[in-house]
Amino acid sequence: MQNKRSLLLYNFYQGLSDRFTNIDRLLRHALPVLADYLSADRVLFFDWKEEKSIISLRTMCQKGKCYDLQEDIFVDRYSPEVIKLLQDGYMMSPSLDYPAVYVLVQWRSPQGSFEALASGQRARSAYGVIRVERFKENKPFTQNEIESLIALCRELSSKINMTEIDHYNTSQLQRAQALNDLAKVFATSIRLSDSLIEILKSIQKSFYFDRTSLYLVDPKTNQLQEAYSADLSGEVKQIDISEALSKNFTSGSDGTTNICPAVRSSDIVLTLPLTLQGKNLGWMVFDNMLSRMPIATEDILSLKQFSAQIALAIDNARLFEKVQELSNYDELTKLALRRFFNENLAQEIYRSKRFNLTLSLIIMDIDYFKTINDTYGHLLGDEALKAVSSVISSSLRQTDLPCRYGGDEIVIMLPRTTGEEAKNIAKRLSEKVSAIELNPKYTGGADIKLSISQGISVFPYDTDDQNDLIKRADEALYYVKQHGRGFWALYGDIKEGKMK
Ligand code: GH3
Ligand code: MG
Repeated sequence: MQNKRSLLLYNFYQGLSDRFTNIDRLLRHALPVLADYLSADRVLFFDWKEEKSIISLRTMCQKGKCYDLQEDIFVDRYSPEVIKLLQDGYMMSPSLDYPAVYVLVQWRSPQGSFEALASGQRARSAYGVIRVERFKENKPFTQNEIESLIALCRELSSKINMTEIDHYNTSQLQRAQALNDLAKVFATSIRLSDSLIEILKSIQKSFYFDRTSLYLVDPKTNQLQEAYSADLSGEVKQIDISEALSKNFTSGSDGTTNICPAVRSSDIVLTLPLTLQGKNLGWMVFDNMLSRMPIATEDILSLKQFSAQIALAIDNARLFEKVQELSNYDELTKLALRRFFNENLAQEIYRSKRFNLTLSLIIMDIDYFKTINDTYGHLLGDEALKAVSSVISSSLRQTDLPCRYGGDEIVIMLPRTTGEEAKNIAKRLSEKVSAIELNPKYTGGADIKLSISQGISVFPYDTDDQNDLIKRADEALYYVKQHGRGFWALYGDIKEGKMK
């Protein structure tokens, strides 16, 4: 008998020698083996929770298959049977009308409750109960069988212990990795949308949710601004805002957006608000809607910590973007500033050289602007400058770049544009500027007609050097100023004597 038990133990142990990523996987492997060896009709595994007053059914194994179940049963922990179970490690079922035996399983769990983890507590004793049933033939368990069962459950206890520690270590490592990745995102000043993508990727890499989504709120309007989600593979997609609004958000009477109660946390969905100094920046939603795996308590703790840092990173990225914008664009006209323009022009010239493309440059200057200022005041001058800039910005293609080059001088980069095309653009701009009607609030009713003079140079025909290209356009502008103003001239045309 002793030999048979040893062999049984050996086989059981062999089956358990694999590494299991969590207890459920281990149970799914061990319970059918247990049922088989003991010729049992059914084996149930219960978690023994909350000061041993509840046993909670976790897994049921029948006919070689395991099912995840959830059912709480209250027990009287001071009853003689329960005391016997704790003392002897087993007991015969006192209430079932067929043979059934309960065996205690015990291990040290490094994962405690949320509060226990938060207070630094690392490990606690955890208990489970296995119930082995024979209800078909009602064959009672012999003392030998019970002893074998106890020995097997002892083996299972130690394997659960190892699995728990393994699982805990792996998730600790993942969290450290996630923190490291996030720290990298926080340390680099990158564009907001890029930071969001990086944040989602690093969370998915470490936590493996079915989906993690990030919804961002516009701080000015409190409306949903942009949203992204990452799936299990870590691929990030932009979420359609109107779709998200209709599905997951409600609009308050004050116009603010809020997340739907349905999207709020459950055991498979975790919603965390991203707040900074009491201000709501958005939400993160982590879900396991497909796998229906509950989100682990220790993950919730880590994600809560991360969410505070993520809010900070979002705020930083927004600030960075604002500073970028301020340093690249002119406050009054909203046009690019000279340094930013020069950088872009250098890149575009490089590209044009490489791909044999033509690029044109227009330099324009408002005619008699000083007189306008002197006659009607600087305030009107400013309005005129704003109006001209806005007409220009709205008349160009996305790839064209207008820049406030200084005072009332504006330069425009026109990639993939020939001299003839640039002349047409100059004509159009000139017409639009002369149609500007300034606000009577500043003009006092006077009819002020604005006009611009424009000089055009073309890469590579006039020169292939950036500074010279600007110089040539300036020379063409000078020519126009000298010959009556209000029109445009191509440097090449002047050189070839084509201008009247
Ligand atoms: P021209 O036709 O020869 O260009 O004559 P102009 O009077 O426009 O002469 P110029 O271009 O040399 O003068 C530019 C004037 O623009 C001088 C300056 O007072 C004015 N100016 C420059 N920046 C601003 C600004 O931001 N606001 C206002 N209101 N005026 C500005
Ligand atoms: Mg001028």
